[in-house]
Amino acid sequence: MENNRKIDAFLLLNELHEVINSRDRREIWNFIVCSLNKIKSELADAKKSKYSVYENDCNYISGIFMRSILDYMKIEMLTSSRDWIKDKKNVEQVWLSVWDCKDRIDFCRERVHLDLFDKIDYSLKETLRFYREQFGPGAYMSPELKVLKRNCSICKDNIKKCSHLSGVIYNGSLCSEILIDVELIGGSLVSYPRDHRCRAWPWRIDENGKSEVLFISTYCIGDFLDNDDWFDLNSSCPW
Ligand SMILES: [Zn+2]
Repeated sequence: MENNRKIDAFLLLNELHEVINSRDRREIWNFIVCSLNKIKSELADAKKSKYSVYENDCNYISGIFMRSILDYMKIEMLTSSRDWIKDKKNVEQVWLSVWDCKDRIDFCRERVHLDLFDKIDYSLKETLRFYREQFGPGAYMSPELKVLKRNCSICKDNIKKCSHLSGVIYNGSLCSEILIDVELIGGSLVSYPRDHRCRAWPWRIDENGKSEVLFISTYCIGDFLDNDDWFDLNSSCPW
């Protein structure tokens, strides 16, 4: 283990606190995008071996947290105008960002405690309450899939046979199930979905009663490690 680590996840979070206190949104956004790029680089396979398992895990959680702040800022930006709710595209976009942010914050809260998580969580719950008041509880698409095989994202083997557990971080990588040989059986509208992103919006129903609904979302909690919208700083920064 090297002493002169390039990233200290907790130091980074302290710095983030200071930047957030400055309340300059562009500064916060730029700081997070730079931090995400650093974390992504530190979590690259070649560099990971220089650090301890603990450091790699901290980096991963910090990345998820930083990414959730971008979700949160996006919600803040999209809801900043007085008439934001009249723009249906906005309404759908905010809805998606709320669930993206919520999933990431829940993930972090299970592992680390920061007061900031509770503040964001409270604000998200208020937004969801506002949606219930405005649009009701909603109906959601629930796809029925036949999955013949599920592999482990860590060892790529059959997840039923390996020792890894889905949802656990292993040396800076989150274990998840990779679905192999998936057959789509059908889908139905439900009130309590697995994924709230697949919501049926009334304005998407055409004169024949048909509606466009998101069937399966491509959301991934750790997408800060892949190509993502925070990469292109100039075009994605809303301020
Ligand atoms: Zn495995």
